[in-house]
Amino acid sequence: MKNIQIIYENTKKMTQKGKVASYIPALAEADSTAFSVSLMSMDDKIELGDCTKTFTLQSVVKVLSFMVAAHHHGIEEIMRYVDVEPTGDSFNSIVRLESNNNKPFNPMINAGAITIASLLPGQSMFDKVKSVTSFIEKILNKQVSVNNEVYMSEYHSADYNRAIAYILQANGFLKSDVEEALQVYLQLCSISVNSSDLAKIALYLATNGQNCEAACSKNVINIAKALMMTCGMYNFSGKFAAFVGLPAKSGVSGAIIAVVKDGEIEHLKGPIGIGLYGPAIDDVGNSVAGIDFLAKLSKQYDLFCL
Ligand code: GLN
Repeated sequence: MKNIQIIYENTKKMTQKGKVASYIPALAEADSTAFSVSLMSMDDKIELGDCTKTFTLQSVVKVLSFMVAAHHHGIEEIMRYVDVEPTGDSFNSIVRLESNNNKPFNPMINAGAITIASLLPGQSMFDKVKSVTSFIEKILNKQVSVNNEVYMSEYHSADYNRAIAYILQANGFLKSDVEEALQVYLQLCSISVNSSDLAKIALYLATNGQNCEAACSKNVINIAKALMMTCGMYNFSGKFAAFVGLPAKSGVSGAIIAVVKDGEIEHLKGPIGIGLYGPAIDDVGNSVAGIDFLAKLSKQYDLFCL
C-alpha cells in the first residue's frame, strides 16, 4: 500500500472523534463517517474515498468571494471595509465588532464575509451570487448550484449572522441592506461541490490562477493565501500554521482546501491542490480527520511552506 493510503486509512478512524455540525439543521443529516481526499497537480491526481459525494462549501467560499470582490474593486477599496488581521475568536463571534474602529477584522470570519457579500459586483442579490458562482464555474469548468435546502435551513437559523449584519450596517460597513447581504452570504455558503472540486479550487490558488480562464490578479490571490494562512482555520489558525504549515480554509460542512505551492506527493509534483471532506468536526469547527490527514501529510512529504 502507498504511504498516502496508509495515512488515509489511519486518519479515517479519527472521524469518530468529531460530530457533524448541528446548529444548521440541514448539516446535521451528514454521514459522520464520510471522509474523502483529492490531491491534484497540473497533470495528475490521487483520490481517496468517495470524491464525488456532494456537500456545501460553507466558509470555504469566503476565500472565493473575497477574491471576486477584491479583483473587482481593488484591494485598497476593500480594505476600507474589511481588515486583514486575525482575531483568534470563533468564526461567528460578535465580541470585537466594536474594536478596530468597528471594521471587521478579516474576510475569513462571518463579519468580514458578510461585508464582502455586500460588496460583490452586481445590482441585485441574484447578480452578486452569480459573480461568485461564475468565478467558481470557470475554475471547475462545470456548472454549480446552490443547495436550496441547506440555504433555507441556514436562513431560518441565522440569528447570529443577522445580529452581526445589523451591527455592520449601523457602523457603515455594509454596502447593501441587511437582508440582501445575508441572503447573498448564506447562498454562497450553500453552493454544492465535491472533494475533487475543492482540489481544483486549491490548485487554482497554488498555480496563482495559471491553470484556467478564471480571472483574478496574482496580488489578490497572494492576499487570499496569506489570509488562509493567518485566519483560514478559525481560532485554530495559529496552531495549523505552526504544525501543518499550509495555507488552508475550512467550513463547518467538514470541507477543507489546502494549497501546496511546490511539492512532491507520491507521483504528483509541482503545485498541488488538496480538497478534503470529513463532516465530523471538532469544537472549533474544523474536520477532525481533515486536520489529522493534513498534519500527517505535511510531515511525511515535507510540505511545510515557510
Ligand atoms: N454558513 C455558516 C455560518 O455562517 C458558515 C460558517 C462556517 O463554515 N464556519 O454560520
